[in-house]
Amino acid sequence: MKTMRNGALALGLALMAGWAAAQSAAPQLQWLGQSAFRITSSAGKVIVTDPWLRANPLTPSQFKNLEALGKIDVLLVSHGHTDHVADAPDLAKLNNVPLYGPGDMNANMVALGILPPQLAPRFNKSGTVEPTPGIKVTAVRAEHSSPLVWRNSVTGKDESHAGGEPLGFIIELEDGFKIWHMGDTGLFGDMKFIADYYKPDMVLMPIGGNFTMGPKEAAYAARELVRAPHVIPMHYGANPLAKGTPDQFWGFMKDSGIQVHVLKPGEVFVPVLKK
Ligand SMILES: [Zn+2]
Ligand SMILES: [Zn+2]
Repeated sequence: MKTMRNGALALGLALMAGWAAAQSAAPQLQWLGQSAFRITSSAGKVIVTDPWLRANPLTPSQFKNLEALGKIDVLLVSHGHTDHVADAPDLAKLNNVPLYGPGDMNANMVALGILPPQLAPRFNKSGTVEPTPGIKVTAVRAEHSSPLVWRNSVTGKDESHAGGEPLGFIIELEDGFKIWHMGDTGLFGDMKFIADYYKPDMVLMPIGGNFTMGPKEAAYAARELVRAPHVIPMHYGANPLAKGTPDQFWGFMKDSGIQVHVLKPGEVFVPVLKK
C-alpha cells in the first residue's frame, strides 16, 4: 500500500489479505477490486459493497469463492451495472442478508425472481437504514446510470430492466466513523453539500474515467468539494476503457494535504483514528 501525503510516500498501517484481524479496535477496509470492499467495523460487523468478484480481473483468486468472504452483516449495491451487482444476489441468498440498493432496482429484482422480497428491501436517496444494529447507511446522489441487465432463463437472452437511480452510500460505523462510498459517479456540485452535511472521514472515490470521474475530476472533487481527510481511489484497472491511474490521481493531489491510500487488491487498510 502507498499512503501519500504532502508529497511524501510513507507506509501506512496495512495488513495483507486475510480475515483474521477482524476484532481489532479500528475499522478495516479491504479492497477487492473495482468498487468492492469488505469493511469490518471495530465491533466486528462486516459490510460488503458492490461485490463483483468472480469475474473481476483484479479480485485475488482466494476471494472468488463467495463462501470465503465469511459472514456478511450488511450488503450494499450502488447500482445495476454488472461490475457492481454481479455476485450480490448470490451473496444475499448465501448469507440470508438483505441486499440494500436502489429501491427501484430491488423492486425489479423481486419482480424478475432474482431475490425474494425479504432480501430486497427498498430505500432511496436521503433514506437512512440500519441493516444491523449500530451500522447506519444513508443513500446519497451519484451522477451515473443504472440499468439492470438480467438473463431470461426461458429465452436465454439478456434483457435490460430499470435499475432505479444510482446511489452512493454514507456508511456510519458504531464508533461514528463515516465512510462515503461514492458508487460510480461523474463530478457534480452537490458533492460539496453531501460532504458538508454528512462530514465523511473517508471517501472511496472512482478515478478510472470513461464511465466515472477520471483522475483530474476526482482530484477536484476531493480537494475543492469534499475535503475529507482520507481518500481511497477505486474503479480503475479492471476495464480497458477506464484508463485513469492512482499515479495520475496523486499527481493532482500531492499538495492537497489529503491522505491518499492506494491499496493493492486484497489489501486491508486500517485508518488511524483520532477520535
Ligand atoms: Zn456503473
Ligand atoms: Zn462501474
